[in-house]
Amino acid sequence: MIDAQSASGGPVQHVPLGWFILLARMKRGCVMSLIVIVDDRISNCNIFAQLARSIEQGISVRAFSDPTKALEWLATNTPDLIITDYKMPPMDATEFIRRFRLLPQSSDIPVIVITVFEERSFRLQALEAGATDFLNSPVDHHEFLTRARNLLSLRKHQLLLAMRADTLERELEHSERSRERALRDSRERLAQVIDTLPVMISAADREGRLLFANACGTTFFTTDQSRVVGVAAAELFGEEAAARSTALDRRVFETGKALPSYEEEFVDRDGERHVFLSTKAPLKDYANVVTGVLTTSFDITARKRDEARLRHLAHHDPLTDLPNRHLLAERIRTAVTKARRGSGNFAIHIVDLDRFKFINDLLGHSGGDRFLKAMAKHLADQLGNAEMVARLGGDEFAILQSDVRSGEEAGAFAKTIVEMIAAFVDPSDPRSATTASVGVAVYPADGEDAEALLKNADLAMYKAKNEGGNLCCFFAVDLQSRARHAAQLDRDLRDALGKDEFRLYYQPQIDLASGRIVGAEALLRWDRGPEGILTPGAFLYRAEENGLILPISEWVLREACREAKAWQRAGLPSMRIAVNLSPLQFRRRTLPLLVARVLAETGLEADYLELELTESIVMHDLDAVADDLKELTELGVRIAVDDFGTGYSSFGYVKRFPVSRLKIDQSFIRHMTEDTNDEAIVRAIIMLGHSLNIVVVAEGVETEAQLACLRTEGCDEVQGYLFGRPMPAPRFVDLLRSESDLAKIA
Ligand code: C2E
Ligand code: MG
Ligand code: MG
Repeated sequence: MIDAQSASGGPVQHVPLGWFILLARMKRGCVMSLIVIVDDRISNCNIFAQLARSIEQGISVRAFSDPTKALEWLATNTPDLIITDYKMPPMDATEFIRRFRLLPQSSDIPVIVITVFEERSFRLQALEAGATDFLNSPVDHHEFLTRARNLLSLRKHQLLLAMRADTLERELEHSERSRERALRDSRERLAQVIDTLPVMISAADREGRLLFANACGTTFFTTDQSRVVGVAAAELFGEEAAARSTALDRRVFETGKALPSYEEEFVDRDGERHVFLSTKAPLKDYANVVTGVLTTSFDITARKRDEARLRHLAHHDPLTDLPNRHLLAERIRTAVTKARRGSGNFAIHIVDLDRFKFINDLLGHSGGDRFLKAMAKHLADQLGNAEMVARLGGDEFAILQSDVRSGEEAGAFAKTIVEMIAAFVDPSDPRSATTASVGVAVYPADGEDAEALLKNADLAMYKAKNEGGNLCCFFAVDLQSRARHAAQLDRDLRDALGKDEFRLYYQPQIDLASGRIVGAEALLRWDRGPEGILTPGAFLYRAEENGLILPISEWVLREACREAKAWQRAGLPSMRIAVNLSPLQFRRRTLPLLVARVLAETGLEADYLELELTESIVMHDLDAVADDLKELTELGVRIAVDDFGTGYSSFGYVKRFPVSRLKIDQSFIRHMTEDTNDEAIVRAIIMLGHSLNIVVVAEGVETEAQLACLRTEGCDEVQGYLFGRPMPAPRFVDLLRSESDLAKIA
């Protein structure tokens, strides 16, 4: 065996094995190549060593005459090229290569085998064992140099490539680490920013547990900041607020969509109520699955207070603090809605003080004001909360008298007002006594809306004034003819059922998501022949009064169920039919029985029938109504609350009764696009409905703008002239047919 030192011509310090060391070597710029020569003939070893060294500068060579020794050395050293003889006892090149290839990191090192040309089968064996190339023996020097140089250069490139890959990997690792650091930093900064925001921000999971709450959110509710994450929302917000929040969260989980903003109240840790404007949005993971709901709540208590003050100013007279004309008109609107369905008519009394100019001259301007204030207080005190006293301006007041059953009742009330004013003496100035002229207009005979009623009451007041004042006058029609008219109406109504003069008109209800007709409301009409078709506003109040409402309602129920079943039988799409109920029907306590009977007679399945009831029905006798409603829902019938929002106890009973649909009163829809108050009410009703899993329907939708607004607020269904006026059954059937034909084509 040749001494490595003598063969290589100098001490070659080869570091132990491994890519990393080699790479380190290359990185330092130390790219000297190492060639190992294995040949049992020392002369050959020397020749090949010399040849190898001449390949390029700085090549180091290690030569072995014993392949076993060579393998031992190779176990801890990594050459760049091996040149081996084929025949070298005790093993041939095939065996040598096979054993060499078993060493770690040996696979990329090229091995040239020197063999005689004819040894073809040996060559194959050597290739299989892992030889890279062959040189024919006797060796052609030029060929030796070329082959060796090529393989060395290949090896160098391989090493360079590995080094690049290694550098790249490190760079990637580094940039990944700095990205993570940057991300962590920005997350921390974001958390700090979120904590400094004066907005409550929290997130909850599907089970209603908090995933997060910012500082504003936690300090609002508690002084204990320690545990928020993972606790049930109720622990932080309190039971009621948490139940509300979880119900709304459920909706976000179901739809995957954000909810429109809504107002809600929270009680802070000191027990003080605050109003918040809240929004809810889904938190999604990479797979777009909703994993939580983010709630953002902005404290608008101060703004609400300001708004309430402004609203009060906008609705009240600054001198007397009585409601002004604007608020009166609003109340009349509500009264019209209630009266339209027969729950009591009302009257407007316009009160004008006689000779107020005289008082003003006598007491001076401020004295006159003082008197008006005293008079306002006197009227309001005397009349109590049931009636509304408003000041229209100057010495003119208006009084809304509710629950007026007859013209006589309104007349008697007007007389009381006249007397009350004549008897009034301002204690601070006894000279200031006066009288008043009162004009009366009764709904619906003297006008069907606020404007007409106020105008006609005003005309009546002038009549009273012209007749000398200190008295009251009705608009146009006198009391006797009023009574005659009522008696005639009663008689005609009584005959109408027998003469088959009642009709049902149907108005479509449309589901906003699908655009399809999903129901119809049955609306009563009275066909008076040449006088035309009367709407309920013109006669229902008499029917309520004289009790005829009961047989009429029964007819309506039976007719609506019969018609709905007939449509089903005719192959039209099955849908809900809604029937309006009268307060009187509940007072009898026989409604569930009647409904069950009518359903059995007509064959209509209960879940296609919806009964619409109003607050006046509900408020009459809560417990009795609750029992009836329970029985009705047990039958499978659905319950809708009509004209929702016009009463005062709406929110309470909706929770208590098995309601499946809320119908927002049309008075809110009418102005929702220009009056932000109405818009806020509509939004609140929709939120309330959704938080209780109740479908919300908007009534009286007449314009595209209203429709767009309702869509934005997330309303479920709509009904109104925009989609179809109430129409006779045959026209409604045509409408259904054309819709189902369209659906078939689609
Ligand atoms: P409601 O139940 O709130 O019915 C809706 C009323 O609004 C209907 O008036 C309908 O014609 C009207 N309406 C629908 N869409 C629009 C719209 O876009 N714009 C406007 N301005 N009005 C629209 P209708 O038919 O005169 O009925 C008035 C009320 O009479 C009903 O109010 C309901 O309370 C009562 N009513 C009707 N039919 C019956 C009945 O069979 N039994 C009882 N007890 N009451 C009935
Ligand atoms: Mg209705
Ligand atoms: Mg309604």
